[in-house]
Amino acid sequence: MKILCVLYDDPKDGMPGSYALNELPKIDTYPDGMTLPNPKAIDFNPGELLGCVSGELGLRKFLEDRGHTLVVTSDKDGENSQADKELVDADIVISQPFWPYYLTREKMEKAPKLKMAITAGIGSDHVDLQAAMDHKIDVVEVTYCNSISVSEHIVMMILSLVRDYHNQHAIAKSGGWNIADAVKRSYDVEGMHIGTVAAGRIGLAALRRMQPFDVHLHYHDRHRLPESVEQELNLSFHETVESMVAVCDVVTINCPLHPETENLFDETMINKMKKGAYIVNTARGKICNKEAIAAALESGQLSGYAGDVWFPQPAPNDHIWRTMPHHGMTPHTSGTSLTAQARYAAGTREILECFFDNQAIRDEYLIVQNGELAGVGAHSYSKGSATSGSEEAAEYKK
Ligand code: NDP
Repeated sequence: MKILCVLYDDPKDGMPGSYALNELPKIDTYPDGMTLPNPKAIDFNPGELLGCVSGELGLRKFLEDRGHTLVVTSDKDGENSQADKELVDADIVISQPFWPYYLTREKMEKAPKLKMAITAGIGSDHVDLQAAMDHKIDVVEVTYCNSISVSEHIVMMILSLVRDYHNQHAIAKSGGWNIADAVKRSYDVEGMHIGTVAAGRIGLAALRRMQPFDVHLHYHDRHRLPESVEQELNLSFHETVESMVAVCDVVTINCPLHPETENLFDETMINKMKKGAYIVNTARGKICNKEAIAAALESGQLSGYAGDVWFPQPAPNDHIWRTMPHHGMTPHTSGTSLTAQARYAAGTREILECFFDNQAIRDEYLIVQNGELAGVGAHSYSKGSATSGSEEAAEYKK
């Protein structure tokens, strides 16, 4: 079989000769007891860069030993991209949300052999899920592999926005010492109302991590958490996003992108927020209206916006979020720490082993199977597509 793997570019100066840490902490299970990826073997050292082209998700030996062909490229956007050329006779495509290969209906129709799209990470909105259902292409992702990684990033971003860390760091780096400038937008998080849109794996982990800061915690989700969890964290549940954002100082967005959540934070929703609130969005860029966010930061309706997700990705150089005031954006990194890479590389291998050996892929990994939303996908996504507009990614110039 031919496996096409679309990964982000190597570091500009080549692959690292050594790493900051010699080993990764040992984690036994995910917080809800789900087991970590358990392939029969791995051919990489956990802690090395695996998500870039030369890292190859540690898959080459495994695939070639079994007689398969692996093609790895980062060239994914625009007319005649390498990925598009290779896709036409590929059986499996692997891509990561950080550098998404937008698998549109049109591309699927040019790939008659395509059987499966694997997301080496979480969030398969870069695949037109409706088209995948129509073409009986299975879609799977490595559920939980980087949920905790993202929740750590959320805590970092909430603290850095509210305390105005970026501004203070810039002053220190540029040789300055004006304390008044450094603190004129700086507050404590203690006592604030913090709410998450969705309390799934990431949303709940973010709430748990914020609890020790003595804040008031809120959530909105399609399904309610068990009462014991609500009591343990003293959570206020909101039937609607609107009711939650009206009372929160900080809103963190942790739902998947699908037709129900696309453009959820538009001008109308942002105007229903408490004046001067902060948004941290590590879910997907398209859940927020980019112009409305920038305008709200200009007007003061929002005091800060941070996250690591953009649309499209890579974000064009003139994407308004690169230059809007009071933002703490990073490129899409929260779920691809070296720690997370080891888990999603192992998870990808587990999925491939199951597929080649005709064994069932874990229900938790399934998004689309046999033409229907399945597993986690049936629980968390809605039918339809959220990939339109992705061709703009070609406008990013290295
Ligand atoms: P989960 O599936 O555990 O959680 C998703 C939650 O979103 C579920 O509780 C689901 O509700 C809820 N949800 C879905 N639709 C809505 C809606 N319309 N309104 C409110 N809640 C909704 O996934 P994770 O927490 O692990 O990941 C969530 C998302 O975060 C991913 O889909 C991805 O887009 C993003 N992500 C980003 C990463 C990054 O690197 N920045 C890395 C990993 C994920 P229910 O199931 O109750 O219906």
